[in-house]
Amino acid sequence: MGKTGADFLKNAQAQFDKVADFLKLNEGTKDLLRTPMKELHFNIPVKMDNGTTQVFKGFRMRHNDSRGPGKGGIRFAPDETADTVRALSMGMTWKCAVVDIPLGGGKGGVVCDPRIMSLSEQERLCRGYIRAVYKEIGHEIDIPAPDVMTNGQHMMWMLDEYETITGARYPGVITGKPAGFGGSLGRTEATGYGVIYTLKALLKAEGVDIKKTTASIQGFGKVAEYAARMYHDLGGKIIAVSCWDNTDKKAYTFRKTAGCLPSELASISDAFGSIDKTKAKGLGYEVLDGAEWLTQEVTILIPAALENQITSANVEGISKKVKYILEGANGPTTAEADAVYNARGIKAVPDILCSAGGVTCSYFEQVQNNTNYYWGKEEVFEKLEYIMTKAFESMYAFAKDKSLTLRDAAYAISVTRVVESMKKRGWI
Ligand code: GLU
Repeated sequence: MGKTGADFLKNAQAQFDKVADFLKLNEGTKDLLRTPMKELHFNIPVKMDNGTTQVFKGFRMRHNDSRGPGKGGIRFAPDETADTVRALSMGMTWKCAVVDIPLGGGKGGVVCDPRIMSLSEQERLCRGYIRAVYKEIGHEIDIPAPDVMTNGQHMMWMLDEYETITGARYPGVITGKPAGFGGSLGRTEATGYGVIYTLKALLKAEGVDIKKTTASIQGFGKVAEYAARMYHDLGGKIIAVSCWDNTDKKAYTFRKTAGCLPSELASISDAFGSIDKTKAKGLGYEVLDGAEWLTQEVTILIPAALENQITSANVEGISKKVKYILEGANGPTTAEADAVYNARGIKAVPDILCSAGGVTCSYFEQVQNNTNYYWGKEEVFEKLEYIMTKAFESMYAFAKDKSLTLRDAAYAISVTRVVESMKKRGWI
């Protein structure tokens, strides 16, 4: 399967269809769950600093809100498409259901590259985005959050625009706000830490000592960086990290066989998770081709960047040493690559569970917004680890019991929950 948005959606639908057949869902239920229930497509005109007007294509989609309001991030991505957002909004429905939080699935995106836009252009884009969607979002309708190349500052501009239009304060309308401004402590770290909470639970179930493991990580954005930090702190050894260089915007693999240091890499990275390759060389890192992260002789691979990264074209390059794949990104594996993992006995913790730490913390953020009482960081992490571990253990036990892969087990659990709620509501 190729690497387009359409391929990505087909892949997401194929995974759903497989589990829908296992669960013997009827055709109407399958039709309802294969695409979003609601889609907004719009143009956002933005006055650029040079006096011209540029029009950006935007999307917000709600896949399913039977278990609660839609929930999911807004991506700023040059290659965003309607199909990518469709697939990602579907993923959010499964993600919220598998960790059993009372939220549905949604996603948004803008076709843009914030790396080449000034902050004031980005602010105008965020405000324009909200003007296009404000009637269709809300703390009880659909709640956006940060995602690829968006952060707490973008969320604050969006929140401010929403509150300016509606004339009241609704902190729970957007999550991923900075701590101290309605955000939750720990939200920045949450997705990355969540990846490692599921890794801890996996290694415990498999009787493996984390200190004896090695890892190669794709990405150095918020998810990858905090996964790397926690993995390193627990005694794991990171052999390689792959991400963009911040000058030529190409991907490289930064390797240090003695062990990469996340704090050292963070000191030479920018807000979008790009690393300066000249500085990396100066710190003793080998600078290899971007694709090399996948072929490293490690026990664990952590794809924590973008979708469609491990495909039929490169999956065979995975080292025979690899035992576990932790999907910190949304949709990093195609169906063909997944079949190879299974044939080789590689256990993959699927994205819908592995990367659910962020949205779980977004849920905590909403709870704190609604009660107007804010928790300490330790309390956030304790609750996050509890939810992620419990969800992992249910998936692992179900997979064992029914002889399923972890991915199929996670999907079966989440799809069942969504279907049950649609049945109780009388939709199907
Ligand atoms: N963007 C994150 C995800 O893909 C978090 C979404 C949220 O917090 O709503 O899971």
